[in-house]
Amino acid sequence: MWSRVKKYFKKSNMPAKALPQRLQPRILSRSEHVISRAYINEYALKVLYRLREHGYQAYLVGGGVRDLLLGREPKDFDVATDATPEQVRRVFRNCRLIGRRFRLAHIHFGAEIIEVATFRGAGVEHGEEGGPGGGMLLRDNCYGTIEEDALRRDFTVNALYYNIDNFSVIDYADGVRDLEAGRLRLLGDPESRFREDPVRMLRAVRFAAKLGFFIDPECEQQIYQHSALLHEVPPARLFDEILKLFMGGMAVETFAKMRHYHLFGHLFPDTEKCLSREEQGFPITFVVRALENTDRRIEQGLSVTPFFLYAALLWEPTRRRYEALLAAGEPSEVAMEEAASEVLARQIQRISIPRRFSLPLREIWALQPRFYQRRGKQPERLIGHPRFRAAYDFMLLRATAGEIESELADWWRQMLEGGEPPPVSQSAAEERPTRKKRRRPRRRKPARAS
Ligand code: ATP
Ligand code: MG
Repeated sequence: MWSRVKKYFKKSNMPAKALPQRLQPRILSRSEHVISRAYINEYALKVLYRLREHGYQAYLVGGGVRDLLLGREPKDFDVATDATPEQVRRVFRNCRLIGRRFRLAHIHFGAEIIEVATFRGAGVEHGEEGGPGGGMLLRDNCYGTIEEDALRRDFTVNALYYNIDNFSVIDYADGVRDLEAGRLRLLGDPESRFREDPVRMLRAVRFAAKLGFFIDPECEQQIYQHSALLHEVPPARLFDEILKLFMGGMAVETFAKMRHYHLFGHLFPDTEKCLSREEQGFPITFVVRALENTDRRIEQGLSVTPFFLYAALLWEPTRRRYEALLAAGEPSEVAMEEAASEVLARQIQRISIPRRFSLPLREIWALQPRFYQRRGKQPERLIGHPRFRAAYDFMLLRATAGEIESELADWWRQMLEGGEPPPVSQSAAEERPTRKKRRRPRRRKPARAS
């Protein structure tokens, strides 16, 4: 065991100081921690017991243990075992193996899935499938011992194991101490761990926002220095990661931290450009309002969709391009179509956006100018559009952020409540989106102002 671990440290050029003095774990017995079986998902318990019955080691690990120790409700429960994926499959009928390179077992219980991972050995990158070196097999023996598995994890607080045999918590990396201190500390040398998998920088920010923890100063320093490493992460993996960042209920806080650590700009460069060249606080207000809205919906148990989120995150660059094209004489529909295509084409070089999301997202944008058309049958036609509800919510957000007149939002509210179009003031009725009164005189083009 020791020789394998030492070899690993040599390979990743870890400074000697990062070498743990001992691999004697700290063991917290049942009376020394707050985890009770009553809080553990019944299916996760079933999986743990079943693996044990078949003579395998099985532990609860990761966020599940971390959150339970903090008295929080875990999002999911992950299991780590010494059984290989094939062995796991033989134990469970309701099991599917996923991942091409590093295989994981998913045990299905109705809609619930318990993920079972075989202990990872020292030679394996921990990046998920498709990650940088994602699951890349650096040598044949990709499975390892629990100690090796612990050292491959990202943060010390994520490397705690709950042992179902005696209800103890096993801590190889001083994770409990960090948990008590509210500290996120990477295992090993921060720079090499971030290089190995830059997504860990995003995970640091996500956990900091979610748990209210601080990032260890040494890790923090490395994030400032290496934020550009995010460019090496495949766009498909970033798509998943973005959803975790913004759909976890702490989007506002997460966004603020992402900007603070200069991570946001590497993911949404067009948006960042608009935010940093902020005009009277509007663009940033809009994004924050949208994220507040997402957080509120999650708290209320309402659904949130990735396309609405992306529509909001990318609206500002799209809107600016749209207005520039309008000013250049393009008809409104063409201008929006074109602006959307340009912004999305650039964006997907960083983060992939599957078509099932980019299509409705474009529809939300395309419908925006139509809220200005309040004559005759036009409002009813707009209401009948399958994407009306999302587009309407989006328009309300724009009004809340001060981008469009509240008169317009009020009119639509009344229209929906009353079922028939309220009167439109003469000047407003003649408004076209291209001619709308601007609240930001600075943006007014000199030709139009005259
Ligand atoms: P949550 O599920 O609440 O978002 P989590 O810590 O459980 O948080 P998961 O993505 O479910 O996060 O991963 C489970 C565990 O796998 C982590 O706790 C960590 O130990 C390990 N892990 C996940 N991603 C990485 C990574 N990129 N590098 C190293 N270890 C990782
Ligand atoms: Mg988890």
